[in-house]
This record gives sequence, C-alpha cells and structure tokens, in this order.
Amino acid sequence: MDAPRLDIDLTKVRNNARAIVNLCGKKGIDVVGVTKGVSGMPEVGKAMLEGGVCSLADARMRNIIKLRKAGITSDIMMLRLPRISSVHAVAKYTDISLNSELSMILSLAKSSTELGKPHKIILMVDVGDLREGIMYTHVMHGLKRIILSKNIKLHGIGTNVGCYGGVLPSEKNMGLLAEIARNIRDKYSIPIPIVSIGGTNCLSLIANGKMPKEINQIRIGEGILLGRDSAHNTIIDGTQQDAFTLAADIVEIKSKPSMPIGKIGKDAFGNTPKFKDRGMRRKALIALGKQDVRLSGLLPIDKQIKVLGGSSDYIILDINDSGDNYALGEEIHFNLLYPGLLSVTTSPFVSHRFLEDTK
Ligand SMILES: *Cc1c(COP(=O)(O)O)cnc(C)c1O
Repeated sequence: MDAPRLDIDLTKVRNNARAIVNLCGKKGIDVVGVTKGVSGMPEVGKAMLEGGVCSLADARMRNIIKLRKAGITSDIMMLRLPRISSVHAVAKYTDISLNSELSMILSLAKSSTELGKPHKIILMVDVGDLREGIMYTHVMHGLKRIILSKNIKLHGIGTNVGCYGGVLPSEKNMGLLAEIARNIRDKYSIPIPIVSIGGTNCLSLIANGKMPKEINQIRIGEGILLGRDSAHNTIIDGTQQDAFTLAADIVEIKSKPSMPIGKIGKDAFGNTPKFKDRGMRRKALIALGKQDVRLSGLLPIDKQIKVLGGSSDYIILDINDSGDNYALGEEIHFNLLYPGLLSVTTSPFVSHRFLEDTK
C-alpha cells in the first residue's frame, strides 16, 4: 500500500457531523461544516452534508472551487475576508461571505449584480480575540453606511474567537454579539436573519445551555473532523476521534544512544534540540517528515511509541517500549490533531484512501 497515506473513514465524519448537528439543533442553531482542515476535500464535504450540516465553508478559493467542481451545490461560505483580487471569484463560487470592510462589501455587491447571482454578507464583529471584524464598540457606527447602501443586503452578523488571541467564548462575549443583533433589528427594522459564531470552541457553551438565544448558526471544522475541542482540551460527546489515520512506513530500525555525540548547534529548522540520556534505545525512522506533517499534531496509535523529533524527510520514533516487534517496511499509524490534519492534507506527498465507497 502506498505510504505516507491518509486513511479517511467517511462514516465517522458523517456520524460526527450528525452528533454535532443534533446537539446544536436542539438549541435552534444550524451547523456550517468547515472543510479547510482537509483542504476542501469534496468527499469529506459530502459526508458532512449527509450528516446534516446546512452548508459548507472554507477559507481558500482553491478549496471552494474544488468543492464546486466535484458537484457540490449546497451553499458555500467564504470564511476568510475576501482579497481585492478575489472578489469576483467569491461572488461566483460562494453564496455567502464573512466581511469587515465596506469597500470590499460594495465590490462584492457589484460583482454579484454583474453575475446576476445573489450574494449574502455576514458582517464580522470583533468581540475581543483581535482577529477579523469591526470592534464591537464601533459596530453600530460602522454599520450605518452598510445598511443605508441600497446595493447591500446585510444577511447577518458574526464573530470568531479563539483563533488569534486565544479568547474563549463566554456568555459575556457571545452576549455582545447577541446584543448587537438586537440593536440593529430595533434601530433599523431589518431582520438580520443570521447570527453566526465559530468555531468548535463554542460548542461547550451550547451544550451547557449558556449560549444566548439570538445565536442561530455555528461554523464547525475541528469538532466534525476530529471530534475534539482543542481549546478546552476535551472530546465532544457522541463523536469519534479517529476518522483520519496517517500511515508511514519504517525505513530504518536500529538501537542507538539517546544522546547525540558531539557539540550541539541548531537543527535543520533553527531550533536547538534538547535530549535526555535514557541509554541505548531501539528507534525507527519513518518516511514522513516536516514537509508532510506538523510533528506536534501526531498521535501514535501504539501508545508505547514516542515521537522523538524529525527533519524534512524523516521522523524518528522511539519504539523501545512497544510490545510490537516492528519490522522494516511495516507501517506505523497515527491519529492526528488539527495542525497535523491541516498539514497532512496540504502535503502533495501524502496520498488519500477512503475507507468506504465514495458516492
Ligand atoms: C476555521 C474557522 C472556523 C472553524 O473553526 P474550528 O475550530 O475548526 O471549528 C470557523 N469560523 C472561521 C471564520 C474560521 O476561519
């Protein structure tokens, strides 16, 4: 079997989506399935839709075009703020986009008119994480021009937390968004049908019944793909964590000292590695490296294996304590955390295999 290889269990992706859709559905919240963690893999997008998500979302135009070319006709949301040069493509390939700049919203409206294709705008509000969005303190002021422009129909407001500042969602910051939705509705008598939040880190607030009732859409990637909420370091009820398995094969097995011999400078990536003397250890080199995967996102399925480190093309594993008698050419299997999955699906060197028929 070709390796390195990502094995993808679409049934698990579908079931994870269903578990999260059920949880959110009970609170009147629609789920948007986010595919950027798998580089917009259409088979995974389809499994999310089969699991009940209302639409898909991705941050990269290339991924979105891939989804469209695979025949996906559901609504697709552009997650990353449009680039000036990509406005036309955003209007063409997506139905809805997250925005924070008036001039960009106006050019989207223009492209949408030219194409004769409606495009919905969600205005992003920054409630404190300091990534995208108009600061919540300034939003009512900024909104006026958007609402008064006859070419723009504001479909919703949204926010994102946790991605830059690491700010966790709370009743307080989610409440700010809910309050803004109420204020806009009162002041301008427009519906603002969507109040959108993301991502996976918001699920626990929903599960605890603490999400303000105005919130009616959540954008979820990690939770569906991996069944994990890494911000809270929890797993999500009713989901599985092993929909994705990475396989790489062993190209060397030898007993070697645990301490390098000689004066230590910087490694290939500019870091100064540290070592602990644990004597001679049985180690394996696999044909997988930092060009393929973020090492911090790698979880060996054999819990006795330790990832020692790596370079562009090799990862060095300590297999000394494993009960398995690994042989040259044998595969080592890993589950992945989000950075691992993102990097692996971005590497052109890792092949993909689906563990069920793809429809
Ligand atoms: C990536 C992303 C999400 C999904 O986040 P997860 O933590 O993977 O669920 C939601 N919203 C925006 C704007 C994003 O960029």
